Amino acid sequence: MRSLLIPLVIVGMLGSSPRTQTPSQTLDAYVIDVEGGEATLFVSPSGESMLVDTGWPGFDGRDADRIAVVAREAGIKQIDYLVVTHFHADHMGGAAQLAARLPLRRFIDHGTTVDRGDAAQAAFQAYAEVRRQGVHVEAQPGDKIPIAGLSVRVIAAGGSVLRSPLEGAGMSNALCGPFTFQGPEITSRAADAEDSRSVSLSVAYGAFRTVIMGDLTWNKEHDLMCPNNNVGTVDVYLVSHHGSETSGSEALVHALGPRVAIMNNGPRKGGAIQTFQILRASPGLEDLWQNHYSVPGGEQHNRPEAFIANLEDSRPAAPATQPPPVHMGAANWIKLSAQADGSFTVTNSRTAYTKRYAAQRR
Ligand SMILES: [Zn+2]
Ligand SMILES: [Zn+2]
Repeated sequence: MRSLLIPLVIVGMLGSSPRTQTPSQTLDAYVIDVEGGEATLFVSPSGESMLVDTGWPGFDGRDADRIAVVAREAGIKQIDYLVVTHFHADHMGGAAQLAARLPLRRFIDHGTTVDRGDAAQAAFQAYAEVRRQGVHVEAQPGDKIPIAGLSVRVIAAGGSVLRSPLEGAGMSNALCGPFTFQGPEITSRAADAEDSRSVSLSVAYGAFRTVIMGDLTWNKEHDLMCPNNNVGTVDVYLVSHHGSETSGSEALVHALGPRVAIMNNGPRKGGAIQTFQILRASPGLEDLWQNHYSVPGGEQHNRPEAFIANLEDSRPAAPATQPPPVHMGAANWIKLSAQADGSFTVTNSRTAYTKRYAAQRR
Protein backbone atom coordinates (compact mmCIF):
# COMPACT_ATOMS: atom_id res chain seq x y z
CA MET A 1 0.00 0.00 0.00
CA ARG A 2 2.73 2.33 1.01
CA SER A 3 4.71 1.82 -2.15
CA LEU A 4 1.66 2.72 -4.23
CA LEU A 5 0.86 5.87 -2.33
CA ILE A 6 4.25 7.37 -1.79
CA PRO A 7 5.14 8.11 -5.42
CA LEU A 8 2.02 10.27 -5.67
CA VAL A 9 2.85 11.96 -2.40
CA ILE A 10 6.42 12.67 -3.34
CA VAL A 11 5.40 14.22 -6.66
CA GLY A 12 2.57 16.18 -5.07
CA MET A 13 4.60 17.50 -2.17
CA LEU A 14 7.62 18.37 -4.19
CA GLY A 15 5.78 20.05 -7.04
CA SER A 16 7.81 21.57 -9.81
CA SER A 17 10.52 24.17 -9.57
CA PRO A 18 10.90 27.57 -11.07
CA ARG A 19 13.47 27.52 -13.83
CA THR A 20 16.61 29.05 -12.52
CA GLN A 21 18.70 29.28 -15.67
CA THR A 22 18.46 29.15 -19.43
CA PRO A 23 17.63 25.59 -20.46
CA SER A 24 20.60 23.68 -21.85
CA GLN A 25 20.69 20.50 -23.86
CA THR A 26 22.69 18.54 -21.33
CA LEU A 27 22.36 16.89 -17.97
CA ASP A 28 25.44 17.99 -16.06
CA ALA A 29 26.82 16.37 -12.90
CA TYR A 30 29.72 17.74 -10.90
CA VAL A 31 31.60 15.34 -8.64
CA ILE A 32 32.89 17.78 -6.03
CA ASP A 33 36.03 17.34 -3.94
CA VAL A 34 35.05 17.26 -0.27
CA GLU A 35 38.16 15.43 0.94
CA GLY A 36 36.76 11.95 1.23
CA GLY A 37 33.13 12.94 1.79
CA GLU A 38 30.57 13.12 -0.96
CA ALA A 39 28.82 15.92 -2.82
CA THR A 40 27.52 15.59 -6.37
CA LEU A 41 25.56 18.38 -8.04
CA PHE A 42 23.19 17.50 -10.87
CA VAL A 43 21.85 20.25 -13.11
CA SER A 44 19.04 19.19 -15.43
CA PRO A 45 18.47 20.52 -18.93
CA SER A 46 15.52 22.47 -17.46
CA GLY A 47 17.88 24.24 -15.05
CA GLU A 48 16.61 22.43 -11.95
CA SER A 49 19.26 21.27 -9.51
CA MET A 50 19.67 18.23 -7.31
CA LEU A 51 22.55 18.03 -4.87
CA VAL A 52 23.31 14.57 -3.54
CA ASP A 53 25.11 14.97 -0.18
CA THR A 54 26.86 17.99 1.30
CA GLY A 55 30.34 16.94 2.39
CA TRP A 56 31.74 17.43 5.89
CA PRO A 57 30.85 19.98 8.58
CA GLY A 58 33.43 22.28 10.13
CA PHE A 59 36.66 23.56 8.57
CA ASP A 60 35.17 27.08 8.36
CA GLY A 61 32.59 25.91 5.83
CA ARG A 62 35.22 24.46 3.50
CA ASP A 63 32.91 21.93 1.83
CA ALA A 64 29.92 24.29 1.64
CA ASP A 65 32.22 26.84 0.00
CA ARG A 66 33.34 24.28 -2.54
CA ILE A 67 29.74 23.34 -3.37
CA ALA A 68 28.82 27.03 -3.69
CA VAL A 69 31.72 27.59 -6.09
CA VAL A 70 30.52 24.74 -8.30
CA ALA A 71 26.90 25.96 -8.09
CA ARG A 72 28.06 29.36 -9.35
CA GLU A 73 30.04 27.67 -12.13
CA ALA A 74 26.87 25.74 -13.05
CA GLY A 75 24.77 28.92 -13.03
CA ILE A 76 22.32 27.84 -10.34
CA LYS A 77 21.11 30.00 -7.47
CA GLN A 78 19.39 27.43 -5.27
CA ILE A 79 19.31 23.71 -4.59
CA ASP A 80 15.88 22.52 -5.69
CA TYR A 81 16.36 19.02 -4.24
CA LEU A 82 18.90 18.09 -1.60
CA VAL A 83 19.19 14.32 -1.32
CA VAL A 84 21.03 13.24 1.83
CA THR A 85 21.87 9.60 1.17
CA HIS A 86 22.40 8.78 4.86
CA PHE A 87 23.24 10.43 8.14
CA HIS A 88 27.01 10.21 8.29
CA ALA A 89 28.98 13.39 8.79
CA ASP A 90 30.77 13.14 5.45
CA HIS A 91 27.40 13.19 3.62
CA MET A 92 25.02 15.41 5.65
CA GLY A 93 27.56 17.41 7.64
CA GLY A 94 27.85 20.42 5.35
CA ALA A 95 24.08 21.09 5.16
CA ALA A 96 23.89 23.89 7.75
CA GLN A 97 26.85 25.76 6.29
CA LEU A 98 25.49 25.28 2.79
CA ALA A 99 22.07 26.65 3.82
CA ALA A 100 23.85 29.89 4.76
CA ARG A 101 25.17 30.16 1.20
CA LEU A 102 22.37 28.81 -1.02
CA PRO A 103 18.62 28.28 -0.48
CA LEU A 104 17.84 24.57 0.01
CA ARG A 105 14.24 23.98 -1.08
CA ARG A 106 13.40 20.30 -0.58
CA PHE A 107 15.03 17.58 1.47
CA ILE A 108 14.92 13.91 0.56
CA ASP A 109 16.45 11.31 2.88
CA HIS A 110 15.63 8.05 4.65
CA GLY A 111 14.04 9.65 7.71
CA THR A 112 15.94 9.37 10.98
CA THR A 113 19.41 8.24 11.89
CA VAL A 114 19.81 4.77 13.35
CA ASP A 115 23.17 5.74 14.86
CA ARG A 116 23.20 5.96 18.63
CA GLY A 117 25.61 7.95 20.74
CA ASP A 118 25.71 11.63 21.57
CA ALA A 119 27.90 12.77 18.69
CA ALA A 120 25.81 11.00 16.02
CA GLN A 121 22.56 12.26 17.57
CA ALA A 122 23.84 15.84 17.79
CA ALA A 123 25.01 15.76 14.18
CA PHE A 124 21.65 14.44 13.04
CA GLN A 125 19.76 17.08 15.05
CA ALA A 126 21.85 19.81 13.41
CA TYR A 127 20.83 18.49 10.00
CA ALA A 128 17.18 18.03 11.06
CA GLU A 129 17.11 21.68 12.14
CA VAL A 130 18.12 22.77 8.62
CA ARG A 131 15.67 20.30 7.10
CA ARG A 132 12.79 21.98 8.92
CA GLN A 133 13.36 25.08 6.76
CA GLY A 134 12.21 23.28 3.61
CA VAL A 135 9.89 20.53 2.42
CA HIS A 136 10.94 17.11 3.70
CA VAL A 137 10.16 13.80 2.02
CA GLU A 138 11.18 10.40 3.29
CA ALA A 139 12.23 8.41 0.25
CA GLN A 140 10.90 4.94 -0.57
CA PRO A 141 12.19 2.65 -3.31
CA GLY A 142 10.25 3.32 -6.51
CA ASP A 143 9.63 7.00 -5.76
CA LYS A 144 10.16 9.51 -8.54
CA ILE A 145 11.87 12.83 -7.97
CA PRO A 146 10.00 15.09 -10.38
CA ILE A 147 12.74 16.99 -12.17
CA ALA A 148 11.54 18.14 -15.59
CA GLY A 149 13.21 16.32 -18.46
CA LEU A 150 14.84 13.64 -16.29
CA SER A 151 13.71 10.32 -14.88
CA VAL A 152 15.03 10.14 -11.33
CA ARG A 153 13.99 7.05 -9.39
CA VAL A 154 14.77 5.92 -5.87
CA ILE A 155 16.24 2.40 -6.08
CA ALA A 156 17.09 1.93 -2.40
CA ALA A 157 16.25 3.77 0.82
CA GLY A 158 16.09 3.03 4.52
CA GLY A 159 17.30 -0.53 3.98
CA SER A 160 14.61 -1.41 1.41
CA VAL A 161 15.28 -1.87 -2.28
CA LEU A 162 13.41 -1.60 -5.55
CA ARG A 163 11.12 -4.62 -5.99
CA SER A 164 9.98 -4.12 -9.58
CA PRO A 165 12.26 -3.39 -12.52
CA LEU A 166 12.92 0.02 -13.99
CA GLU A 167 11.96 0.33 -17.65
CA GLY A 168 14.04 -2.05 -19.75
CA ALA A 169 15.52 -3.80 -16.69
CA GLY A 170 14.71 -6.99 -14.78
CA MET A 171 17.09 -9.39 -16.53
CA SER A 172 18.46 -12.24 -14.43
CA ASN A 173 21.87 -11.50 -12.94
CA ALA A 174 24.44 -14.26 -13.50
CA LEU A 175 26.73 -12.71 -10.87
CA CYS A 176 24.36 -13.56 -8.01
CA GLY A 177 25.43 -17.22 -7.92
CA PRO A 178 29.08 -16.55 -7.13
CA PHE A 179 28.24 -13.65 -4.77
CA THR A 180 30.23 -13.78 -1.53
CA PHE A 181 28.62 -11.98 1.40
CA GLN A 182 30.79 -9.87 3.66
CA GLY A 183 30.81 -11.34 7.15
CA PRO A 184 29.92 -10.10 10.63
CA GLU A 185 33.34 -8.53 11.15
CA ILE A 186 32.14 -5.95 8.63
CA THR A 187 28.37 -5.98 8.99
CA SER A 188 28.51 -5.52 12.75
CA ARG A 189 30.53 -2.32 12.41
CA ALA A 190 28.62 0.68 13.67
CA ALA A 191 28.88 2.44 10.31
CA ASP A 192 27.19 -0.38 8.44
CA ALA A 193 23.67 0.33 9.76
CA GLU A 194 23.50 3.83 8.26
CA ASP A 195 25.44 2.94 5.12
CA SER A 196 23.05 0.09 4.29
CA ARG A 197 20.14 2.54 4.52
CA SER A 198 21.58 4.91 1.91
CA VAL A 199 19.11 6.52 -0.47
CA SER A 200 20.24 5.41 -3.92
CA LEU A 201 19.07 6.86 -7.23
CA SER A 202 18.88 5.99 -10.89
CA VAL A 203 19.14 9.14 -13.02
CA ALA A 204 18.19 9.01 -16.70
CA TYR A 205 18.17 11.68 -19.39
CA GLY A 206 16.92 10.37 -22.73
CA ALA A 207 19.09 7.35 -23.54
CA PHE A 208 21.69 8.27 -20.89
CA ARG A 209 21.74 6.44 -17.51
CA THR A 210 23.72 6.76 -14.31
CA VAL A 211 23.37 5.69 -10.67
CA ILE A 212 24.42 7.30 -7.40
CA MET A 213 24.22 5.21 -4.25
CA GLY A 214 25.86 6.95 -1.29
CA ASP A 215 27.53 4.32 0.87
CA LEU A 216 25.10 1.48 0.08
CA THR A 217 26.83 -1.66 1.31
CA TRP A 218 28.13 -4.73 -0.52
CA ASN A 219 25.54 -7.01 1.09
CA LYS A 220 22.68 -4.59 0.38
CA GLU A 221 23.81 -4.55 -3.25
CA HIS A 222 22.87 -8.24 -3.30
CA ASP A 223 19.33 -7.37 -2.17
CA LEU A 224 19.08 -4.81 -4.94
CA MET A 225 20.65 -6.75 -7.79
CA CYS A 226 19.66 -10.38 -7.08
CA PRO A 227 18.29 -12.56 -8.44
CA ASN A 228 17.27 -10.04 -11.10
CA ASN A 229 18.93 -6.80 -12.08
CA ASN A 230 16.02 -4.39 -11.62
CA VAL A 231 18.22 -1.35 -12.26
CA GLY A 232 19.45 -2.26 -15.75
CA THR A 233 22.64 -1.06 -17.35
CA VAL A 234 24.20 2.39 -17.08
CA ASP A 235 26.57 4.57 -19.06
CA VAL A 236 28.27 6.00 -15.99
CA TYR A 237 28.63 4.48 -12.51
CA LEU A 238 29.24 7.06 -9.80
CA VAL A 239 31.29 4.74 -7.62
CA SER A 240 29.64 3.82 -4.31
CA HIS A 241 31.09 4.54 -0.88
CA HIS A 242 34.14 6.50 -2.05
CA GLY A 243 35.46 3.29 -3.64
CA SER A 244 35.69 1.45 -0.30
CA GLU A 245 35.98 -2.33 -0.32
CA THR A 246 32.71 -2.65 1.64
CA SER A 247 30.75 -1.65 -1.50
CA GLY A 248 31.07 -2.11 -5.24
CA SER A 249 30.61 -5.87 -5.70
CA GLU A 250 30.81 -7.53 -9.12
CA ALA A 251 27.09 -8.31 -8.83
CA LEU A 252 26.44 -4.57 -8.84
CA VAL A 253 29.21 -3.11 -10.96
CA HIS A 254 29.55 -5.75 -13.66
CA ALA A 255 25.78 -6.09 -14.00
CA LEU A 256 25.41 -2.31 -14.40
CA GLY A 257 28.07 -2.60 -17.10
CA PRO A 258 29.17 1.05 -17.08
CA ARG A 259 31.36 2.53 -19.82
CA VAL A 260 32.80 5.03 -17.37
CA ALA A 261 33.15 5.09 -13.58
CA ILE A 262 33.78 8.25 -11.54
CA MET A 263 35.04 7.74 -8.00
CA ASN A 264 34.72 10.42 -5.30
CA ASN A 265 37.53 9.14 -3.11
CA GLY A 266 39.89 10.98 -0.80
CA PRO A 267 43.63 10.39 -0.73
CA ARG A 268 43.17 7.88 2.08
CA LYS A 269 39.40 7.38 2.04
CA GLY A 270 38.06 4.71 -0.29
CA GLY A 271 40.04 4.15 -3.47
CA ALA A 272 40.59 0.56 -2.30
CA ILE A 273 42.70 -1.86 -4.31
CA GLN A 274 39.79 -4.30 -4.53
CA THR A 275 37.61 -1.54 -6.03
CA PHE A 276 40.22 -0.77 -8.69
CA GLN A 277 40.42 -4.49 -9.50
CA ILE A 278 36.65 -5.01 -9.78
CA LEU A 279 36.32 -1.92 -11.96
CA ARG A 280 39.21 -2.94 -14.20
CA ALA A 281 37.57 -6.35 -14.75
CA SER A 282 34.14 -4.84 -15.48
CA PRO A 283 33.04 -5.77 -19.03
CA GLY A 284 32.90 -2.73 -21.28
CA LEU A 285 34.49 -0.27 -18.85
CA GLU A 286 36.45 2.27 -20.88
CA ASP A 287 37.70 4.61 -18.15
CA LEU A 288 37.81 5.24 -14.43
CA TRP A 289 38.08 8.86 -13.32
CA GLN A 290 39.17 9.67 -9.76
CA ASN A 291 38.55 12.73 -7.60
CA HIS A 292 41.85 12.13 -5.79
CA TYR A 293 45.00 10.17 -6.22
CA SER A 294 44.51 7.09 -4.01
CA VAL A 295 47.38 6.46 -1.62
CA PRO A 296 46.38 2.80 -1.09
CA GLY A 297 46.04 2.35 -4.86
CA GLY A 298 49.65 3.39 -5.43
CA GLU A 299 51.34 3.52 -8.81
CA GLN A 300 49.91 0.17 -9.81
CA HIS A 301 46.23 1.04 -9.61
CA ASN A 302 45.81 4.82 -9.97
CA ARG A 303 44.82 6.04 -13.41
CA PRO A 304 47.08 8.37 -15.39
CA GLU A 305 47.09 11.93 -14.04
CA ALA A 306 44.76 13.20 -16.78
CA PHE A 307 41.96 11.17 -15.16
CA ILE A 308 42.63 12.37 -11.58
CA ALA A 309 41.24 15.73 -10.43
CA ASN A 310 43.41 16.23 -7.33
CA LEU A 311 47.01 15.09 -7.09
CA GLU A 312 48.30 17.08 -4.15
CA ASP A 313 48.17 14.33 -1.59
CA SER A 314 50.01 11.79 -3.67
CA ARG A 315 53.03 12.14 -1.42
CA PRO A 316 53.58 9.56 1.35
CA ALA A 317 51.52 9.90 4.52
CA ALA A 318 52.63 12.45 7.09
CA PRO A 319 53.59 11.07 10.51
CA ALA A 320 50.46 10.08 12.43
CA THR A 321 51.35 12.55 15.18
CA GLN A 322 50.49 15.46 12.87
CA PRO A 323 46.84 16.42 12.21
CA PRO A 324 45.82 16.49 8.55
CA PRO A 325 45.80 19.95 6.97
CA VAL A 326 42.38 21.60 6.76
CA HIS A 327 42.66 22.76 3.15
CA MET A 328 44.35 20.09 1.16
CA GLY A 329 44.59 21.57 -2.29
CA ALA A 330 42.78 23.25 -5.10
CA ALA A 331 39.52 21.24 -4.83
CA ASN A 332 39.18 20.42 -8.50
CA TRP A 333 36.07 18.62 -9.64
CA ILE A 334 35.06 16.17 -12.35
CA LYS A 335 32.23 17.25 -14.63
CA LEU A 336 30.00 14.82 -16.48
CA SER A 337 27.88 16.28 -19.27
CA ALA A 338 25.35 14.00 -20.99
CA GLN A 339 23.22 14.41 -24.11
CA ALA A 340 19.81 12.84 -24.59
CA ASP A 341 21.20 10.52 -27.28
CA GLY A 342 23.37 8.86 -24.61
CA SER A 343 26.67 10.47 -25.62
CA PHE A 344 28.58 12.29 -22.90
CA THR A 345 31.79 14.03 -21.97
CA VAL A 346 33.87 13.91 -18.79
CA THR A 347 36.08 16.87 -17.87
CA ASN A 348 38.83 17.23 -15.29
CA SER A 349 38.61 20.80 -13.98
CA ARG A 350 42.28 20.74 -12.96
CA THR A 351 43.46 20.64 -16.56
CA ALA A 352 40.25 21.17 -18.56
CA TYR A 353 41.04 17.84 -20.24
CA THR A 354 37.79 16.53 -21.73
CA LYS A 355 37.12 13.09 -23.14
CA ARG A 356 34.12 12.47 -25.36
CA TYR A 357 32.19 9.20 -25.34
CA ALA A 358 30.03 8.63 -28.41
CA ALA A 359 26.48 7.33 -28.04
CA GLN A 360 26.33 3.56 -28.00
CA ARG A 361 23.49 1.20 -28.59
CA ARG A 362 22.55 -0.43 -25.28
ZN1 LIG B 1 28.56 6.33 5.43
ZN1 LIG C 1 30.76 8.12 3.24
